[in-house]
Amino acid sequence: MMHIFCPYCGELREEEEFHVKGQAHIERPKDPEACSDAEWGDYLFFRNNPRGVHHELWIHAVGCRKYFNITRHTVTYEILETYRMGEQPTITGETKADPTTQAKGVSA
Ligand SMILES: [Zn+2]
Repeated sequence: MMHIFCPYCGELREEEEFHVKGQAHIERPKDPEACSDAEWGDYLFFRNNPRGVHHELWIHAVGCRKYFNITRHTVTYEILETYRMGEQPTITGETKADPTTQAKGVSA
């Protein structure tokens, strides 16, 4: 059983209480009318699928029902950090997070 740290509840909760909602930090185009079909299609349908560090939008569906973000390593499934909406991740692909380091906000 994996436990995930909810940044709003402030505690570790069972994985079954959460649902993933897809890639985090997708910004809606400021002026959709000025977008080309390709730009609008990219916004609506195309998502990153990296091998490594990925930022995902999750919801604590059976808890506080709030959305938050998770930084997860897609190879090891290790959750590197969780953070509230509007906050930025401290771990990114550029920081080259080591998946073997101690996870922040998760325990197995
Ligand atoms: Zn919560």
